[in-house]
Amino acid sequence: MVLMLELFDMAAVPDLAEIGERYQALCETVRACEASAGRESGSVRVELAAKYQSPERVLAALQAGAELIGHNLIQQLVAGEEALSELDAPAHRTHVIGHLQKNKAGKALAYADCIETVDSLELAQRLNRLAGERGKYLDIFLQVNSSGAPSQFGIAPEQALDLVGQIADLKHLRIAGLMTIGAHSDDTTEIARSFELTRNLREDLQDGGIASATELSMGMTGDMEIAIAEGSTIIRVGTAVFGPRP
Ligand SMILES: *Cc1c(COP(=O)(O)O)cnc(C)c1O
Repeated sequence: MVLMLELFDMAAVPDLAEIGERYQALCETVRACEASAGRESGSVRVELAAKYQSPERVLAALQAGAELIGHNLIQQLVAGEEALSELDAPAHRTHVIGHLQKNKAGKALAYADCIETVDSLELAQRLNRLAGERGKYLDIFLQVNSSGAPSQFGIAPEQALDLVGQIADLKHLRIAGLMTIGAHSDDTTEIARSFELTRNLREDLQDGGIASATELSMGMTGDMEIAIAEGSTIIRVGTAVFGPRP
């Protein structure tokens, strides 16, 4: 772990007050990582990975300034958002960051501002149809399996451009970026390579005329420094703010 966050014991479960302090330390850490990568201050946003956290704990981070929440499970997204609304939580946006089953797409669309994990034409078509029925436009990211690990969801990098070509015709979806999970490895070069590959793919999309694809959702508690150096615009962070998951 890096910089200001070193002040906290990452193995401990923080109380509500410490969640706020950790969120602020995380933001300072991100600013320091941006600076050392020669990037503009504020070019990286923090997304709270809220899986298995109580609404009160998520609220503590929102009150400390967090503006973006990511959920893996649709059931937790729905319950979490309903609870936060009852708690009069500060305004925030929500993204889906876990694999989305097609039968959960309607619920996801009702509660999320962006689906980061689109990795098939079938899912994109269903989201497009549901968004159309609601008369809205939905932001999506394509999830890229940049490490090639068979256990990971996401489209293979070499198939991504074809999928983008097909999704580009779906009028109610807007391809806003790419999401990836870095290689699960102790080798920082290998982790950096998976992020670099994803960044290069975004350049390919933009060169191919998908100008809306600006975001790179990459980096978690353990590899955010590498991800920011490789151009991440959104890091998805759970443990650094909330401690080990229940
Ligand atoms: C849980 C999760 C994260 C955050 O992981 P931490 O290591 O706790 O920061 C990020 N992205 C996804 C997709 C996750 O499921």
